[in-house]
Amino acid sequence: MLAPVLVLNANFEPIHVCNSHRAISLILTGKANLVLNGRGEIHTVARVYPRPTIIRLTHMIHRPRHRIKLTKREVLRRDHDTCQYCGQHAPSLTIDHVYPRHLGGQTTWENVVSACSACNHRKGSHTLEQAQMSLLRRPSEPPASALYYFGRHLPENQEWLPYIEGW
Ligand SMILES: [Zn+2]
Repeated sequence: MLAPVLVLNANFEPIHVCNSHRAISLILTGKANLVLNGRGEIHTVARVYPRPTIIRLTHMIHRPRHRIKLTKREVLRRDHDTCQYCGQHAPSLTIDHVYPRHLGGQTTWENVVSACSACNHRKGSHTLEQAQMSLLRRPSEPPASALYYFGRHLPENQEWLPYIEGW
């Protein structure tokens, strides 16, 4: 019942991911329609329901455009799990403040990068110049496209792709 379901706005814009349970209750209350049924059926005591993989809201909801929340996980994802100093691809990277925090460096998309522990240790609390290190690329806020936003669900939900592309 907890499989992810892609929720489309009335204009087909992908806006959200919910679980099957929530999706079915939206359908039963008339707030959404089934767009794609990908995973068989759900049996309750009284009835059998199609198990949705994509639903679409019957009424347009207004909300601000997505922005990617600045978290360690999202920084690692933006940097493709690659140390931004030496280029090493590693599963357990740390987050480095390019301009050090103790000098007033902020925690912003432009000032944090993924770093392996060796590079993070080498850089310490120094600036790039002091440490004589350089970045592979200038860090910036990742695009909040639907593909970026919902992309992590795609390996298990390939059928979502046509509904996500282009937004
Ligand atoms: Zn490194």
